[in-house]
Amino acid sequence: MLIYQGKSVFGGIAIGKIKIWKKEPVNVKRTHIKDCDAEYLRFTEAKAKAIAQLKKLQKKALEEVGKDNAAIFDIHILMLEDADYLDAIKSMICTQSLNAEYAVMLAAQNFSKMFSAMNDAYMQARATDVKDISDRVINILSDISQSKISGDEPVILVADELTPSQTVQFDKSRILAFVTSKGSLNSHTAILARTMNIPAIIGVDIYENNYADGKMGIVDGYTGNVYIEPEEEFLSQMKTKLDEQLKKRELLQLLKGKEDITLDGKKIKLYANMGNIKDLPLVLFNDAEGIGLFRSEFIYLESDTAPGEEEQFAIYKTVAETMAGKKVIIRTLDIGADKKVEYLGLKEEENPALGLRGIRLCFKRQEIFKTQLRALLRASVYGNISVMYPMIISLDEIHKIKAIVSEVASELSSQKIPFAIPEQGIMIETPASVMVSDKLAKEVSFFSIGTNDLSQYTLAIDRQNEQLDDFFDPHSEAVLKMIEMTVKSAHDAGIWVGICGELAADTSLTEKFLRMGVDELSVSPSMVLSVRKKIRETNLSK
Ligand code: PEP
Ligand code: MG
Repeated sequence: MLIYQGKSVFGGIAIGKIKIWKKEPVNVKRTHIKDCDAEYLRFTEAKAKAIAQLKKLQKKALEEVGKDNAAIFDIHILMLEDADYLDAIKSMICTQSLNAEYAVMLAAQNFSKMFSAMNDAYMQARATDVKDISDRVINILSDISQSKISGDEPVILVADELTPSQTVQFDKSRILAFVTSKGSLNSHTAILARTMNIPAIIGVDIYENNYADGKMGIVDGYTGNVYIEPEEEFLSQMKTKLDEQLKKRELLQLLKGKEDITLDGKKIKLYANMGNIKDLPLVLFNDAEGIGLFRSEFIYLESDTAPGEEEQFAIYKTVAETMAGKKVIIRTLDIGADKKVEYLGLKEEENPALGLRGIRLCFKRQEIFKTQLRALLRASVYGNISVMYPMIISLDEIHKIKAIVSEVASELSSQKIPFAIPEQGIMIETPASVMVSDKLAKEVSFFSIGTNDLSQYTLAIDRQNEQLDDFFDPHSEAVLKMIEMTVKSAHDAGIWVGICGELAADTSLTEKFLRMGVDELSVSPSMVLSVRKKIRETNLSK
């Protein structure tokens, strides 16, 4: 048995035959053309066909993996219309008398080199895209269609690298797992694999090993291991694990559409956390009732400059519209501590976790805060948005926030820009906010307890320091008492209270939280159905 270790992009076990998938090598030959106009016309016709193919793929992606993931095909279509790209091809055809295939290949190489050299992760990722669109045009010009997987049996697909358009073209029912040599954890392809619910591993060099083709393999997406020609005993162990996984998943799937209600009739709001708009299909797939924490700082972390009002408005509006009336709780930016961006020019700090982060940064840099608030208020017209503020420690901060929100509202109103004031709540994630939670509860509409930071600050254990793992008790009595106190303050003031830190997904605590009176739990999308199961098995009357 051969064992390969890679990085897991999406968990799960797959057992089946390995298929080494190679792209048909297109042998692009250089020829001398005489009629430059006719050759360029041949190119523009191929380009039009490529765009038609991309539109079809985009439709397929929209149906299978959602709007956000389908957006990559919009980018491909735009790239095929890009004036610089088209000019480069035209100039090579007309000034060097090159055939269209060869000109497209050279343009792809040049643009891809240029993108790879850029100091911007987003632009670097476009290097693969320009090759992808150019290969599509070359295939059309050369009358080659990239072969699909032959045979009927589903396979473990091994490739060097998969582009988003290749990934989405595969028939999902024919793929047991994806294993690639290249690719990053955040590439579109990785996201598509996660969204398609297919185990995937990257950074495994099986592709060059033709011997593996057609052999029996096991992909363990939990550990990142791939096994080729497993021994009988190991194979049967893994088959048992796969059966268990399938049974568990099947049972959990039955919970889709079911209410989040205890045996004795207490209804719980079960929402999902998201860090990035790309997580939205997962939220929907796992049937969360709403979004309990949208960590909006990821929009800032993924950008090289502060994201503007329009960019943010478009994202919040898309999320609100996609959730179609379900609750979407957007947390205002929580930059600082471990989440840093260069463009804000923040100083190095001795104790960043106790530093300029969350709402404190928003008060110091009000122009950034106001831009986000404008986008949030405008997007609130399009769905059921709530806004919550991180790292609160005092009542005074709530008064300041209210004053800024009304300033933003009157600016929008005098500019005649449509907006709505969303429901507003706060994160309870500092011991200070717990201690004054009775007063805070009278000023806001809800509390969401951030147990990750609340544990860090209560226990004085830096959540980034792995040396302290042995001292960290996730079920610490001190933290549980803080949660209990917060719930009491909220209910005394008549507002709802939830938990959005990682502890919310700890099913060994679900009953305890419900007994405390927690009204909402917001967990990572993949945990929604397991927590739903636990809620439905709980009987609070006993
Ligand atoms: C928390 O602190 O529990 C929380 C949900 O916020 P973050 O993990 O983003 O700090
Ligand atoms: Mg936090």
